[in-house]
Amino acid sequence: MAVITEEKIRRFDRMVEKADKIVISAHVHADGDAVGSTSALFHYLTEIRGKSTSVVLADRDAGGSSFLIPEEDKPFFTFYWNNPGEAARVIAEASLIILLDCNSFTRTEDLGDFFKESYAPKVLIDHHLDPQEEEFDLIFSETETSSASELLFHILMALPDIAGDATRLPMQSGIALMTGMTTDTNNFSNSVYPSTLEMASILLAAGVDRDAILSDIYQNYRENRLRAMGFLLSKMTITPEGAAYMILTRKNMMTFDIAEGETEGFVNLPLAVRNVRMSVFMRQDNGFFRVSVRSKKGTSAQRFAATYFNGGGHEYAAGGRLYFSEDISSVKDVVSYLENSLNEFLHEA
Ligand code: 5GP
Ligand code: MN
Repeated sequence: MAVITEEKIRRFDRMVEKADKIVISAHVHADGDAVGSTSALFHYLTEIRGKSTSVVLADRDAGGSSFLIPEEDKPFFTFYWNNPGEAARVIAEASLIILLDCNSFTRTEDLGDFFKESYAPKVLIDHHLDPQEEEFDLIFSETETSSASELLFHILMALPDIAGDATRLPMQSGIALMTGMTTDTNNFSNSVYPSTLEMASILLAAGVDRDAILSDIYQNYRENRLRAMGFLLSKMTITPEGAAYMILTRKNMMTFDIAEGETEGFVNLPLAVRNVRMSVFMRQDNGFFRVSVRSKKGTSAQRFAATYFNGGGHEYAAGGRLYFSEDISSVKDVVSYLENSLNEFLHEA
C-alpha cells in the first residue's frame, strides 16, 4: 500500500516508542470499523509495546460492537457520554494521540476541542476523503482500502516487532481487525480490494475465528430491531427518480423500543430494489435528523450528503445531519426538504 512508506513506519514506530500515555479515538457513533480499529490498536500498544493506552470515544457505549470489549478491557475504554470528566482528563494527559476511521477531530464531536487543545503529537489512520492535514503530525490516509481496520492491519504488519508475521499480533487485535473490515464491507459486498482478501486470508491462517465473529455481528440482534426494520420497509418510499427513503421518528423509536445503534444497516436494504440508485435513512435525534446515504455506482452518496446534509463520507456510503430551525423550520418539513433535495440532485445527476 503506497501510503505505508518505510519512512512513515519508522516515524510512527519512534512516536510510539517515545510516548508514555497514548490515547486512541475514532468517529462518534462508533461502528464496527471504529471500535474494531481502535481496539485492535489498543491491544497492539498494550500487549506488544507495553504502553499505557486508553481508548476515548464520544458515545454512550460501543453498541453492537461491544463484544469487542471484554470485561478486562473496560477500564481502558472511556465513553464521553457517560464520563465527560474522565474523558477530558485522559486526553489532557496524553503524550500521543492516534485518530482512526475519520478525517478530522471534529468527527469526534464533543471530544474535538479537547484533542485540538492538546500539545501531544497526533497521528491519523483513515480511509475517508479529505484528511484535515493541519490537525496531524503524521498521516496514513488511503481511500482505496476497505476500512480503517484494513489500513491499520497493513501498518501493524509493517512495524518491526510484527515484521509481516500475523501470528505475532495479539489474537484480540486480529479479531477486532477482521470485525472492522467485515462490517465496513458489509461482509464482503462492497469496497473489497485484493489487499482486503489478502488481509482476511492472513488473519484466518493466523487463527482468527471468523464464524464466531459473524455470529457476534449478524446473529445477535434483539427481536425489536427486526420488527422496526419490517415497519420501516413497509413504509419505504421510492421516488420516480430512483431514490428510496425511510424516516424513523422519536415516536417510532419509543414504540419499537429501539436504541440509536440498533438501526445500523437499515439504509443498505432498499438498494436491493432494481431501480433504486440511492437510499436515504433519517433518524430523529435531539434537534436534528441523523442522515445515512448509500448509493450504487454512478450516483454519489458523498456529494448528496455534503450538498444537502452538512455531511460527507465515502463515494457510495455517506452521512450527515439536518438541523431543525437552521435547515428546516420544523420536524414536519423533513419530507418536503428530502424530496426536493432528491429531486434536484437526481435530475441534475
Ligand atoms: P453511516 O451512514 O454508517 O452513519 O455513515 C456512513 C459514512 O458516512 C461513514 O463513513 C461516516 O464516517 C460518514 N458520515 C456519517 N455521518 C457523517 C457526518 O455527519 N459528517 C461526515 N463528514 N461524514 C459522515
Ligand atoms: Mn470505516
